[in-house]
Amino acid sequence: MKAARFDYIRPRTVQEVLDHLAEHGDEAKVIAGGQSLVPTMNVRLAAPAVLIDINHVEELSGIEADKGTLRIGALTRHAEIAASETVAAHAPLLSMAAPWIAHEAIRNRGTFGGSLATADPASEWPACATVLDATIHLVSARGTRQVAAGDFFQGVYETAIEPDELLTHVEIPAIGEGYRAGFSEFARRKGDYASVGVAVQGRVGASGAIGRLLKRGEGRLHDLRIAFFGVAARPMLATAAAAALEEQPLDESTLKAAQEALPTDFTPMEDLYMSSAAKAHLARVLLGRVMTTLYHGEGR
Ligand SMILES: Cc1cc2nc3c(=O)[nH]c(=O)nc-3n(C[C@H](O)[C@H](O)[C@H](O)COP(=O)(O)OP(=O)(O)OC[C@H]3O[C@@H](n4cnc5c(N)ncnc54)[C@H](O)[C@@H]3O)c2cc1C
Repeated sequence: MKAARFDYIRPRTVQEVLDHLAEHGDEAKVIAGGQSLVPTMNVRLAAPAVLIDINHVEELSGIEADKGTLRIGALTRHAEIAASETVAAHAPLLSMAAPWIAHEAIRNRGTFGGSLATADPASEWPACATVLDATIHLVSARGTRQVAAGDFFQGVYETAIEPDELLTHVEIPAIGEGYRAGFSEFARRKGDYASVGVAVQGRVGASGAIGRLLKRGEGRLHDLRIAFFGVAARPMLATAAAAALEEQPLDESTLKAAQEALPTDFTPMEDLYMSSAAKAHLARVLLGRVMTTLYHGEGR
């Protein structure tokens, strides 16, 4: 099938984008990498009358770190994040997750902002943004506002973005001393959306001089933020599982307690290919895997 007829606009500044969004309202859609929007237009699940192409708005691109905050422009491609040393130093979770997103061709076009705005429940970036307590910056002709990732993702393909708003950039607190990240997912084939995935960040052992003396596989877990994706309409913070791990060394009994806490955090939704029970089993396995690699050293 082919997309329904549409008008095409190619602005060069954020202000021009906002003017067009204000003028066309619900009739218009921003297009970034086109990796989610174009397929849905081709099968006529979306039929915007006007496409506003933001690919030439330079101020929406780029990765910067300043004063403990990592800033990623909405138009930054998945592949740029995967390759960025600044990202690896300030938010290693994103570097770990990037290779799991689709295939190279899609990572070269698809954007950070586009993925967050799409809010596919099986997407990697929304879960990472939730774990990292990212702040999402939105702008419209009415003004600017900031939304915490925890409030931004509201349901399957549903976010806090209003039709006249543009996602401009995301701010992420840089990873602190003694903190590590971990990421794992299971997909039916390499490059597919995840059946179930998990993103984690937390501190191992004490910070400061004592923390630096600890070896991998020693110390206790602190401040864990664990988010599962592919299990619910939006990323799910596993707070009960994290509580079971808090201030514990990672041994068999602690891990078992955390895995047994998962049903308190969520009952996975089934999808076309996998039952809820199978996803619950996978979530337990992935939690074990990600916590073991984080604790014993492959995290960061
Ligand atoms: C075969 C295939 C496999 C894929 N596998 C995965 C996967 O495993 N994991 C994964 O996470 N993704 C996957 N994707 C999706 C991919 O990551 C997309 O890049 C991403 O979902 C959307 O980004 P985009 O830049 O292409 O957005 P677009 O397709 O251009 O836009 C998507 C939506 O976001 C809106 N939007 C885009 N940018 C903004 C903005 N700055 N402000 C406001 N609204 C905006 C658009 O209006 C539209 O509604 C896959 C895609 C394909 C085709």
